[in-house]
Amino acid sequence: MIEKFECTRCGWCCKNLSNVKDFKPGFTNSYLIAPNKPNLFILPWEKQIFPKENVVITKIFFDLNNNLSIVLYYGLNTDCCPLIKDNSCSVHDNRALHCIIYPCPIGDFESLSRGIYGSHEVCEAELPINKLLEMFEIKDMGNSKFNYKPSVLAKKLYERYGVSFIYKTLMEMRVKKITEIMFKLESRGIIKLARKGIDVGQLMSQIKNSKKVDADDFIKEKTGIDLREMFSEKSIEAIKKVLES
Ligand code: SF4
Ligand code: SF4
Repeated sequence: MIEKFECTRCGWCCKNLSNVKDFKPGFTNSYLIAPNKPNLFILPWEKQIFPKENVVITKIFFDLNNNLSIVLYYGLNTDCCPLIKDNSCSVHDNRALHCIIYPCPIGDFESLSRGIYGSHEVCEAELPINKLLEMFEIKDMGNSKFNYKPSVLAKKLYERYGVSFIYKTLMEMRVKKITEIMFKLESRGIIKLARKGIDVGQLMSQIKNSKKVDADDFIKEKTGIDLREMFSEKSIEAIKKVLES
């Protein structure tokens, strides 16, 4: 039986947005760059929820051809969210999707079978990983083995985490889609992505002085595709229908 996750609203996760110590700006993989420490993953259209002075860019693609920072995620310059007041979120009904998602324990929908992770050590309401695995009938955390189809696991995750699971999946799909489009634009010579191997110090000053554009606006301008529609009410309702069928 699937037990529904209930947040106790203890506020711990809002005050401890990142456990990364000794952060250094640089590449997070071969082409994604973190000029500032990633903590809360704020989507470009959500940044106005937070005080302007606290919002920084945390994940970008950098286009060397046009000296352009293409922002995938914003974040905060503090590990304690400025919007937490007396242990509760002061913008609860309007909070960022990443806040809603936590602590849904998956990577992305397409690779559900690659494993789930647990947040029991930091979230008092989350079950220990062995209990989660038992509940989802998964044998091994790092390499999830289960005797049913991934669509069944998706339904189970939806039953436990509700819409958080849907948003988590959509966030991952957005990153995949943007990356795919960036590579296509690069193969047509429209952009040239900075990649691991180039001088990080020099790149950081170039990024500081560069023009900035939000990834979703950039994609819309170049391809006409509006990735924000993935998060529309209509799209969420359609996904819910499938998961509830
Ligand atoms: S916006 Fe609200 S839920 Fe999100 S981190 Fe800040 S206080 Fe927490
Ligand atoms: S740590 Fe867990 S229980 Fe506490 S506010 Fe965050 S999600 Fe809710």
